[in-house]
Amino acid sequence: MKKNLCPCGSNLKAKDCCAAVHLNPKLARHPEQLMRARYSAHAMNNLNFIMASWHPTTRPQDTGPIQQWNDECTWLALNVAQSRKLGSKGVVEFVALYRQAGQLKQHHEVANFKFEKGQWWYLDRSD
Ligand SMILES: [Zn+2]
Repeated sequence: MKKNLCPCGSNLKAKDCCAAVHLNPKLARHPEQLMRARYSAHAMNNLNFIMASWHPTTRPQDTGPIQQWNDECTWLALNVAQSRKLGSKGVVEFVALYRQAGQLKQHHEVANFKFEKGQWWYLDRSD
């Protein structure tokens, strides 16, 4: 993988893809874009964006476990299985591959998103 390419696998430079969304979440016009940016935030260890894109009603108070998980993981790839947008609601199903303690693992999630105050937010998971 080339160094400047976005971790989300878009084949775009990070600054033209998820890193731009990290600076301005309103650039994400579709829930999948926000989800990709959240994956890239894990890969780039940008905990601030992970928290900032989490809906205030479901955002965890304690960031410790997420930071620890992130410190232990090397994020390898993202596969988006499906995504859809219905009005102010969005659903993205994805599998993220990562390595933790020498083992290859995958994180599968059906994630729910909500459009509010001019931007998409991660709400919760339904799987
Ligand atoms: Zn990206």
